Amino acid sequence: MALVQVRYNNCDAATGFGQFDLNVIPPATLEVIVKVYFDVDNNLPAFNTGAFLNAWQANVSTIWDNKIRIKLDEQNGETLTTRFVIQEVNGLAGCHFPVYLQKGYAQDSGVKFPKVGKFGGNRIYLSLMDQDNLPYYQAAAASIQSGVLGAARVGMFFDEQQRVFNIAGQGPATITLNRLPNGWEVALGSRALLNNICAAIAATPDYLPQPPIKITAASGLTTKATALAQTVVNYMRARGVTAPTTVANAVTTKKKFKMPFTSHKPTATVTLEVLAAGEMYKRLTPGTAVADYVVTAHEFGHLLGLVDEYLDYSSMTNLIIKNSQPLWDNLCDQHQPQVTKRDWHGKFNDSIMSVGTRVFKCHAVTIWEALATASGTDWKIVAPV
Ligand SMILES: [Zn+2]
Repeated sequence: MALVQVRYNNCDAATGFGQFDLNVIPPATLEVIVKVYFDVDNNLPAFNTGAFLNAWQANVSTIWDNKIRIKLDEQNGETLTTRFVIQEVNGLAGCHFPVYLQKGYAQDSGVKFPKVGKFGGNRIYLSLMDQDNLPYYQAAAASIQSGVLGAARVGMFFDEQQRVFNIAGQGPATITLNRLPNGWEVALGSRALLNNICAAIAATPDYLPQPPIKITAASGLTTKATALAQTVVNYMRARGVTAPTTVANAVTTKKKFKMPFTSHKPTATVTLEVLAAGEMYKRLTPGTAVADYVVTAHEFGHLLGLVDEYLDYSSMTNLIIKNSQPLWDNLCDQHQPQVTKRDWHGKFNDSIMSVGTRVFKCHAVTIWEALATASGTDWKIVAPV
C-alpha cells in the first residue's frame, strides 16, 4: 500500500530530551520540523532572530539534509530522504526547544539544565551565541593563523602529533641520498626509515591536516641543497605525504667553493623533522570536517535528542542528561541490524556531534524510533551507511 502524507506532531526523542514534528511526504521525503522559541539576552539589543534563524537553517541544511534515509520495512516500501526545518514560534508553550541567545562565539553554547528564571524554570534549553553560525575556520581564524590551539581541540592535534612522533621519532632523522648521473635518489639504507615516516603521516585522518615536515639540506651550493630536499619531497609525496605539509629548506654552508678538480662526493644527507602541533593547526583549511564545523549545526543535533561525543556525561548530576548517552546506545542496539554506536567518551573527531561535520547512521536513531512509534510501522535506516 502506498504511503499517504501524514504529520506526527511533538514526537519525543527516546534519549530523554529533544522533540520534533515528523512530516511524511510521499513518495520520498521525511521532513523533521523543530520549533524553537528565542529568548535574546539584553547584550544583544535589536537582535534580528529572523536573520539568525535563516543562517542557522542554511547551516543545518548543508550539514544534515539528504544524508539520512529511512525505508519502510516491507516489500517495495518507500525510502524517505530526510530534510530538516527550524521554525521560530512566538510562545514558549508552542515550542519544542527554548533557545537562549547571547553575544559571543561558542563560550556558553550547549544544552543547559533547567534554571530558575529561565523559560519557566523547568525546561532544558539550548544556549547559543550570535556568532555561532560561523564555520570554525572563520570564527577561530586568528588562533589558526598564529598556531595557538584553542582548549577544546588541543588534544586532538597533540594526540595526532604524538602518534606520528611515536613512529617517526621526535628528533630530526638523517636521510642519506646517493648521487645519480643526473640527480639524486634516497639511499637504500634510508628507505625503511623514510617509508615508516611516510606511512605514519599518510595515516593521519582526513579531517586533520597532516603533521608538517621540515626538510633541511646543507650544501655550499643552493642549487644542490634544493635538489637534495626536493628529492626527499618527491619521494614522500609519492607515499601519501601531501604537498603543502612538506617544507623544503635549503641551507648553504659557509664553505668556499671546491676546487674544480675535486671529485663530487657520491652521497649527501638531509635532515627531516616532524614539526609541532601548532604548525599542523596552522594548516587547517576549509573543506575539512574540523574546519567546517559550525556550532549551530552541532547544537541542532541536540534538538533531535542527540548527545555530545566530545563529553562524557556520566559524572553529571542531572539524570536526564546523564542517562541520555546510554539511552542513545540502546536505540542503536534496538535497530535491526544494530547500528554502530559512537564512542562518545570524550572523543574529538569529524563527527557532527563531536567537532566535525559528518553525519553517521547512529545520528538517525531518534528520528527512526519516533517514526516507528508514531506510525506503528517498522522502518529501517538505510543511510548513511
Ligand atoms: Zn554539544
